Amino acid sequence: MIEDKNQQKTELSDLGEFGLIDHLTRDFKIKQKSTIKGIGDDAAILSFKNKEIVISTDLLIENVHFDLSYMPLKHLGYKAIIVNLSDVYAMNASATQVTVSIAVSNRFPLEALEELYSGIETAAKIYNIDVIGGDTTSSTTGLIISVTAIGEIKDGDEVYRNGARPNDLLVVSGDLGGAYMGLQVLEREKEVFKVNPNNQPDLDSYTYIIERQLKPEARKDIIKLLKDLDVKPTSMIDISDGLSSEIMHICKQSEVGCDLYENKIPLDPQVISTCEEFNIDSTTIALNGGEDYELLMTVSQKDYSKLKGNPNFTVIGYMKEKAEGMHLVTRSEMKIPLKAQGWKSF
Ligand code: ADP
Ligand code: MG
Repeated sequence: MIEDKNQQKTELSDLGEFGLIDHLTRDFKIKQKSTIKGIGDDAAILSFKNKEIVISTDLLIENVHFDLSYMPLKHLGYKAIIVNLSDVYAMNASATQVTVSIAVSNRFPLEALEELYSGIETAAKIYNIDVIGGDTTSSTTGLIISVTAIGEIKDGDEVYRNGARPNDLLVVSGDLGGAYMGLQVLEREKEVFKVNPNNQPDLDSYTYIIERQLKPEARKDIIKLLKDLDVKPTSMIDISDGLSSEIMHICKQSEVGCDLYENKIPLDPQVISTCEEFNIDSTTIALNGGEDYELLMTVSQKDYSKLKGNPNFTVIGYMKEKAEGMHLVTRSEMKIPLKAQGWKSF
């Protein structure tokens, strides 16, 4: 899990900028009809015919958004793509292309960037998207990655944050809190490793939550499932900062209130047991832990029968009139105002 000191090292300067880009992107294949020209010219060319175009960008900075002492570069490349695709899916769109820009210090050998790009390539393959360009430059401080994701959507299919109405169901995909608890376990092991580098951690009972942190997935499958079920959510957002702040985004933009039921929040058994071990309240983690990349949506009551019993969706509450406010209804049926602590990177 920790850096291998004996790996082969090829200085980036041995290749030059152009050689480096060619080398890193040589296996990338074009899969999308809409990609007319990908990597290799001054700019890429895309053609979307009658579709609308969706664009989203994220910036990831070493030691702010990721820590390379427990994040393998391959996973980082994968995750950098996933977090962007998640934003495109949250519009109810399909993702088609990405650009990837990196700034690297000379601390990184070619082999490190190969690892990063193999993660990027894996994500591109699994999610069927093209890497169509980017930029490469040097950095004095560490690694910086910026990804722009591009997608397409049929006019009218867009789902914004501002469409929720009172009485809509509040629905979430998957389960929450795993990525944050995975991070807690990794942070703990990092401290143990500092004291005793020969200690091999036994992480078997944390595999699910560590994977949620190191290798998250974007819910492309949920967008397809919603189409198959003929459900168009009234609003949607991806959960990158924690349930609480995402609910508040929807409520503010839609000018509604909501009741969120504590006993409905979906938690994996590993999240529950790890919270017990760390002596943290699992509801707090689901509300404020980040990086789960599940989709939070509001759905009209008339669509309830289409989602009912489907294990991919959990109804966790109801939207209310704005004047009624935003509340968590606890297991003991107390109503407390929702707060957004969020998962702030700074
Ligand atoms: P320019 O000098 O015009 O910016 P570059 O030499 O930076 O051109 O880029 C050449 C080609 O390689 C372009 O198609 C660009 O989009 C692509 N490219 C550059 N850096 C990356 C990267 N890190 N990942 C993917 N493609 C890249
Ligand atoms: Mg350039």
